[in-house]
Amino acid sequence: MPPRFYLNKTINAGQVIELSDDTEHYATRVLRLRENDKITLFNGKGGEYSGRIISIKKSNTKISIDQHYDFEYESPLNIELVQAICVNEKMDWIIQKAVELGVTRIQPISTNRSVVRLSTERAAKRLRHWEKTVISACEQCGRNHLPQVLPLISLADWLSNQKTDQVHQHFNFMLSPTADKTLSNFPCPTSDTVITLAVGPEGGFTSEEERGFLHASFTPVQLGQRILRTETAAMAAIAAMQTLWGDF
Ligand code: SAM
Repeated sequence: MPPRFYLNKTINAGQVIELSDDTEHYATRVLRLRENDKITLFNGKGGEYSGRIISIKKSNTKISIDQHYDFEYESPLNIELVQAICVNEKMDWIIQKAVELGVTRIQPISTNRSVVRLSTERAAKRLRHWEKTVISACEQCGRNHLPQVLPLISLADWLSNQKTDQVHQHFNFMLSPTADKTLSNFPCPTSDTVITLAVGPEGGFTSEEERGFLHASFTPVQLGQRILRTETAAMAAIAAMQTLWGDF
């Protein structure tokens, strides 16, 4: 399969287009692609484009676009992962794997027991970094739509922004090792169901935070009797939902 690149531009079949600087560096210096090599481009607006490198010059690599294909590899489930922020490498790992497993949106949250604290400036920098992580995960796994990563917000603010939405059905899950229910207690969601999955930090949610989730109509669910690390819990829950109701 030709290597895939995200390009934040309008793309049309028959056109000659230039790669962006980041993409060009990766394509020509890291992957060492050459003239006439085939590549696939996508811009997040639907489908993907086959293309061929027609010239490589410093900061000016040109691609001729052959055809548009309306391929989509999105999960039938609309899952928003509400993830308590954790140390850099772990958070990157969670974002990368969550994209591969098919989430639609990722909301990082800071909680009372979060070890990581970010200033506004550092949070903005992390957000740009996470957006790049989403792009490379989509390039790698074949998704042509970029899941959204939302700016870091405190759990208290996030909960107070939650509104009842009459248009969609909602499954709101809070992962808690002491919950009575499991995911298999729930029926298959309909195509317009929004599934919100909240995962706590290493120290878990506080009881006050758990009460906040209950007040916002979240149901505690457990993933077996063992305590999982936060990153294991998030990925296990998404994989379980894809197996029970999605495309696994
Ligand atoms: N002592 C903490 C507690 O009791 O919540 C453990 C926290 S665990 C390391 C991190 C997060 O992963 C938890 O807040 C929860 O959201 C999720 N988690 C871990 N194991 C789980 C399980 N067996 N069932 C449901 N959620 C789990």
